[in-house]
Amino acid sequence: MADGHGLRLLNPGPVTMTERVRRALASEDVCHREPEFRDLVASVRTRLRDVYGEPDYTAVLLGGSGTAAVEAMLSLVGRDETALVVANGVYGERIAAMLEAQGKAHEVVRSAWTSGIDLEAANAALATGRFQRVLTVHHETTTGRLNDVGALGVLAREHGATMLLDAVSSFAGEALRLVEWNIEALAATANKCVHGAPGVSFVLAQNAALARAPSNGGATSVYLDLARHAADQARGSTPFTLPTHVTRAFDEALAELEDDGGWRSRHATYAERSKQVRAVCAELHAHPLLEGQADYGATLTSFRLPPAVTYEDLHAQLKHDGFVIYAGQGTFAGAIFRIAVMGALSAGDLERLARSLRRALG
Ligand SMILES: *Cc1c(COP(=O)(O)O)cnc(C)c1O
Repeated sequence: MADGHGLRLLNPGPVTMTERVRRALASEDVCHREPEFRDLVASVRTRLRDVYGEPDYTAVLLGGSGTAAVEAMLSLVGRDETALVVANGVYGERIAAMLEAQGKAHEVVRSAWTSGIDLEAANAALATGRFQRVLTVHHETTTGRLNDVGALGVLAREHGATMLLDAVSSFAGEALRLVEWNIEALAATANKCVHGAPGVSFVLAQNAALARAPSNGGATSVYLDLARHAADQARGSTPFTLPTHVTRAFDEALAELEDDGGWRSRHATYAERSKQVRAVCAELHAHPLLEGQADYGATLTSFRLPPAVTYEDLHAQLKHDGFVIYAGQGTFAGAIFRIAVMGALSAGDLERLARSLRRALG
């Protein structure tokens, strides 16, 4: 690659890992039934709970990508309940598809993918009193929008419902006020803002929600039965084989997050990187897809492709220079490109990226 560097991943996960985390991946082999692995899982779960310092929540570690964690979290939707999904992108739609596959009653409040979540329509739906759970996506990676989960959580509380949140691309990178926002549980993954390796994910749930879970009949899968994983992990066990080396790397990534100053400092780093990327793109007439800068979170920006530039050409030029960017999904395929700024990136990487973008778009 250019300047002798490896590829830098600017897709929204998996991210470029630090050497420290990569070394942990090559750690000694361990049996998942031995005390040393039990201690490792306990360490990961404690560190996860402490990222936002929420004492009344418990982290449940799962083998699988972020989607597995979201699907396991849906164990908390009981079979006799009705869920409200508030969607404005691919990942909100995926939650609805999971509820459909699980045969659980639900309705979807949709808004245009370039708009925020529709709080008015959500409020009207909640006012019918039919919903016990409200599901949405915090950072909708489809566009890079940070949804107003706090406002939705307050509406849900007013109508006696609790929130289940897809925080897969925001956990450790954005502010999350779990109690204040009425979040009963969230799902996230190792390999986005935490900078671990792909292969493990987790649900962070209120202790009371986990205590209630075994009796609500919400588990529709043996592998992704959240209550079973929670009960086993509380006993220092795990129902199935976890990816042991990936778990070791996750613990190291969480330790590194702590050493780096926690989610606040990571958020500040991402915000600064995104500011630089947006400034270069503005200069090159690649305009943000969303109207307001304030609509975006810190981790990712979606840009409209300038006329006469195809995604394939842009991707190829940037990859030649050592960077992997990301295409649009769904209706945005071929119309936008996305640049995420998670992972191990140096100031020099960002300067090289700016030069590469100027070559490709200038
Ligand atoms: C990445 C992502 C997921 C899950 O993706 P996996 O490929 O299963 O890890 C879910 N929701 C959001 C918002 C995401 O960004």
